[in-house]
Amino acid sequence: MPTLSKRTESFTDSVIRRMTRISNQYGAVNLSQGFPDFEPPRELLDRLAQVTKEDFHQYSITWGAQNFREALAQKQSRLMGRSIDPNGEIVVTCGSTEAMMAAMMTVTNPGDKVIVFSPFYENYGADTILSGAEPIYVPLYPPEFNFNVDELEAAFKQKPKALILCNPSNPCGKVFTYDELKIIADLAEKYDTFVITDEVYEHIVYEPYKHTYFASLPGMWERTISCSSLSKTYSITGWRLGYIIAPKDIIEVAKKVHDFLTVGAAAPLQEAAVTGLRFGDDYYKALQAKYTEKRDLFLKGLDDIGIEHTVPQGAYYILLDISEFGYKSDLEFCEVLARDVGVGAVPGSSFFREDVNHLIRLHFAKKNDTLYEALNRLEHIREKIAKR
Ligand code: GLN
Repeated sequence: MPTLSKRTESFTDSVIRRMTRISNQYGAVNLSQGFPDFEPPRELLDRLAQVTKEDFHQYSITWGAQNFREALAQKQSRLMGRSIDPNGEIVVTCGSTEAMMAAMMTVTNPGDKVIVFSPFYENYGADTILSGAEPIYVPLYPPEFNFNVDELEAAFKQKPKALILCNPSNPCGKVFTYDELKIIADLAEKYDTFVITDEVYEHIVYEPYKHTYFASLPGMWERTISCSSLSKTYSITGWRLGYIIAPKDIIEVAKKVHDFLTVGAAAPLQEAAVTGLRFGDDYYKALQAKYTEKRDLFLKGLDDIGIEHTVPQGAYYILLDISEFGYKSDLEFCEVLARDVGVGAVPGSSFFREDVNHLIRLHFAKKNDTLYEALNRLEHIREKIAKR
C-alpha cells in the first residue's frame, strides 16, 4: 500500500474531543469539551422549526446567506466600532474551526512561521501544520498568563507571517488588556505581520474585565483577520456557524479557500440564527450574568474541595492543579478521573508547548445541577484516586 500523507503524521486526533468519547464511555459528567448542556434561546429554536417549512433547503451563497451576513454585520459593526460591509468583509464558515483554518490558508505559505501563545487551543497546532506553516510558541506566564515583551519581540524577529490571538483565551481564561493588545499591535506593525484572532468567547467576560476587539485598535483593521462563531454566544455548538471578518482584499482570498473547503455553512441554520444576531444588548448582559453565576458557583465548589485552580477573566475554563496526585501523565489522570470519579476533563498537556503535566482543564458551561453533580463527585477525588 502507498503511504498516507506526511502532513498528518505529527499530530493526533483532538484530545479535547477524544475526552468527550471517554466521558461518554464511563458515564462521566463531561466537563471536557466545552459545550453547554442547556438549551439555546427559545426564539432560535422556534425560528428553526419554522425554517424547516420555508425555502432554505439548498445551498446558500458560498460566503454566507445575505440575511445572515447583514444581521452579523449590523451586530459586529456596533461592537467593533466600525461599519462592516456585509457584502465584502465577511465569510460565513462551518464554525470558527473552519474560520481559523481558512484564515491560516489565506495568509500563509508552506514554511511560513506563525506565532502562537502557549497555552493555546489545541486546533492551532494542527491548523498550522495542515497549512504547512511552522509555529513559534511564546509562553504566557501564570497566574495572570502575561507574556514577556522581549520574548514576544524575539518571536517577531523571526519574521512570522501571522500571530494567532485567542482572546478571551482558551484554556487559561485570560482577557488581554488594551495595553497588552497595543504592544502586540505595535509589533505586528513594526514587523509587518498579520493577526488572526479567535474571539469565540467575546461575550463571555467577567467583571471588571472587558473584551477589546483586536481589529478595533488603531491601524489594525488592515492586518487583522477576525474569526469568531455563534457557538458559545447562543449555545449552538452543533450548528457549526462561524465567520471571518476582514478587509475586502483578504476576504476575497478567504472566500476561495472556504468555497473549496466546505462550500458553505448550513442554510437553514444560518436563517434560524439570524434571530439571535438581532438580539439586543439585554441578551448579552443576561449571558454574562449567567456565566458569572456558573463561574462563581464552580470556583466556590473547587475552593471547598481545596484544589488549586486558575480564576478565569473570560471564557469558561478552569485549569486545576493535580500535582498532589503525583501522576506523570495527565492523560492517564484524566482517564482515571472519568472512570473512578465520574468527571470528564482535558489533560493540560494538550494546550501547552512546555512540558506541563500537572494541570487538567474543566469547563463550567453546564446547568447548575450538572455542576453540583460534578462537584459532589469531585469531593471524593482524594478517596477515589490513589496518590502515586
Ligand atoms: N472550544 C471547545 C473546547 O475547547 C470545543 C471546541 C470543539 O471541540 N470544536 O473544548
